[in-house]
Amino acid sequence: KLAATETEIQELRAKYNEIDPETIKTFAQFPLSQKTQKALSEAKYTTPTEVQRLSIGHALQGKDVLGAAITGSGKTLAFLIPVMEHLYMNKWSRTDGVGAIIISPTRELAYQIFETLKKIGKYHDFSAGLIIGGKNLKFERTRMDQCNILICTPGRLLQHMDENPLFNATTMEVLVLDEADRCLDMGFQKTLNSIIENFPPDRQTLLFSATQTNTVEDLARLNLKDPVYVGYGTAK
Ligand code: ADP
Ligand code: MG
Repeated sequence: KLAATETEIQELRAKYNEIDPETIKTFAQFPLSQKTQKALSEAKYTTPTEVQRLSIGHALQGKDVLGAAITGSGKTLAFLIPVMEHLYMNKWSRTDGVGAIIISPTRELAYQIFETLKKIGKYHDFSAGLIIGGKNLKFERTRMDQCNILICTPGRLLQHMDENPLFNATTMEVLVLDEADRCLDMGFQKTLNSIIENFPPDRQTLLFSATQTNTVEDLARLNLKDPVYVGYGTAK
């Protein structure tokens, strides 16, 4: 059981509606759990980058977010922080199954996300798994249902959905598509469609990429609900 105190959760939640990205200068000004704040400060993350400052508040509020920002702008924390906070605020524990699924187009990027999560999630009690293929399928299979956060490549995730009776995606509440333009392009289109069919439609979706190329059809098939656009429609 997580050591989340009801008081902390209520105090944080009460601040969610007041988040104003324009006035935020430090991570400490976001209503984030002590566990997250401590890890961020130890990792020397003090000032959010623009994409983090503009998207974290909306994501905490449970909104769908579409973020576009160039490579190196800090998109990883823009989704990892809200993912961790979502599970914490909902008192997710190891036995509650998969709460968040992060999809990345390549193994290397998935691995980097996993490393960042280990760093900033170190005080949380969630379990996280890397599902990227090339490793022992049997090992992934038996461990997967005990993971609260899965970081996956599309092909490997679908393989588990199709073949692994232990894997249950119906508990998941947050979907992240990193490098969404690459995940949504032709090569992955069929795979991603099949994956999405296994997800509950009322989940939160966070979509990040370096470009703004997501088409209306792509967004429709992801079931986005009134998404907040960050980094779209501005000359940058
Ligand atoms: P992107 O996914 O947009 O290409 P990353 O999330 O990989 O960018 O971040 C790029 C680099 O910036 C990483 O080395 C990361 O540790 C660093 N970084 C991210 N956010 C911050 C921050 N708020 N303060 C300082 N460094 C940061
Ligand atoms: Mg990235």
